[in-house]
Amino acid sequence: MPTRRATDSSAGDRLFETAVEQFDAAADLIELPDWIRRMLRSPQNEVIVSFPVEMDSGELRMFRGYRVQHNDLLGPYKGGLRFAPQVDLGEVKALAMWMTWKTSLVNVPFGGAKGGIAFDPADHSQREVERIVRRFTHALGSNIGPEHDIPAPDMGSNAQAMVWMMDTYLNTRAALDRQTVRHVVTGKTIETGGSLGRDKATGQGLAFVLAHHYERSGQELSGTTAAIQGFGNVGEHAARALQRLGVRITHVADHTGAVAAPSGIDAEALWRHTRSTGGVAGYAGAVPIDTEEFFAADVDILVPAAVENVITAERAQHVRARVVAEGANGPTSIEGERILVDRGVEMIPDVLANAGGVIVSYFEWLQNKTMSRWRLPKVDDELRHLMWEAADRIEDEKKRLACTRREAAYAVALDRIRRVFDQRGIWP
Ligand code: NAD
Repeated sequence: MPTRRATDSSAGDRLFETAVEQFDAAADLIELPDWIRRMLRSPQNEVIVSFPVEMDSGELRMFRGYRVQHNDLLGPYKGGLRFAPQVDLGEVKALAMWMTWKTSLVNVPFGGAKGGIAFDPADHSQREVERIVRRFTHALGSNIGPEHDIPAPDMGSNAQAMVWMMDTYLNTRAALDRQTVRHVVTGKTIETGGSLGRDKATGQGLAFVLAHHYERSGQELSGTTAAIQGFGNVGEHAARALQRLGVRITHVADHTGAVAAPSGIDAEALWRHTRSTGGVAGYAGAVPIDTEEFFAADVDILVPAAVENVITAERAQHVRARVVAEGANGPTSIEGERILVDRGVEMIPDVLANAGGVIVSYFEWLQNKTMSRWRLPKVDDELRHLMWEAADRIEDEKKRLACTRREAAYAVALDRIRRVFDQRGIWP
């Protein structure tokens, strides 16, 4: 086996370098004081846990989990949990930092965090996944808490995983506290305290932001075409929400392949196919295409909603879409973005485009704290309001600073953080 040198860096480490580079560019732009810059360049806490889990065979296996708490200046740490084999500290640090900017940008009173377990849920039975999630929750102990750090679903995890986390956390509290800590996680099922509209929130939010973009630039969103990479939580709901707004989804890709249909792919029909087969490959209503054809698709809108770093410098040269809306976190490399922006492609950055999830997580948290229920129209209406408010501020800042949309989004987010730092100061 080749030995790893100290200079070798993982894809996760490189993702964190990208996150810091994006931060530095925006910090320069708004002349962020050096002391704030140093505080924000690295996370406040990095928790790594190793824990044993019994497999169905009776064998005991060790798992490794992470929770990185980047910053809690604006409120409790908040961010998703990712279940995927490649999860490592670097990846989680990058994602945690992006959460701090995202919550500040959309003005919800949370800080930024992210976590994950390095394993592939597809390799395990449901019972094994349950034991892994419960053991991870127990290993985290008081590193999470309803007023301290609140996980949510991300890639590979889902509402059921959140319910197991809540149940494990709740059952390890004193009896008197058990009914008051349900908001330790968000993204739960409706029956266990989840919010209406949380499952679709990220995709719905992305559609709201695209509607804002088209309206503000005096164009019609209805009648446009879109290509979506990823047909999981974000991709599927983005497809459904965009379809409701009159967008024709002509290309969809996931880990099993890519498919195209010029006349349109119906989100509900594709969802039924993926439910029974595990992916978009083989969908009868479309023809198979390869990944490079997918990224070069002749569409109006490209939505990368799967994994990071897929729009590389090489692919960016072939993108024909006029708008790229980042459903995933970090899907565009720094060089890839430079090329797209130079070519006049409108980039809607992840910190805005996929913020719908954390916004409705905030609504769920509020509902749990007050033992109340919001109706779906209220959830959607408040979501749209917060997303449009953030999108308006970004457009104004983009014009004022003559910068990219991502830099403008960071400028808005960092300005709020700077003002709070200035007012609160450093104790003692
Ligand atoms: P998910 O696990 O529900 O779905 C992931 C999708 O990506 C699947 O369709 C899978 O087939 C596809 N995929 C995985 N590897 C791929 C590859 N190598 N090539 C092509 N497709 C691949 O995950 P999700 O929750 O939809 O998250 C997707 C992205 O959105 C992630 O970057 C995540 O951090 C981000 N995000 C999610 C939320 C949320 O609320 N779930 C919120 C904000 C951002």
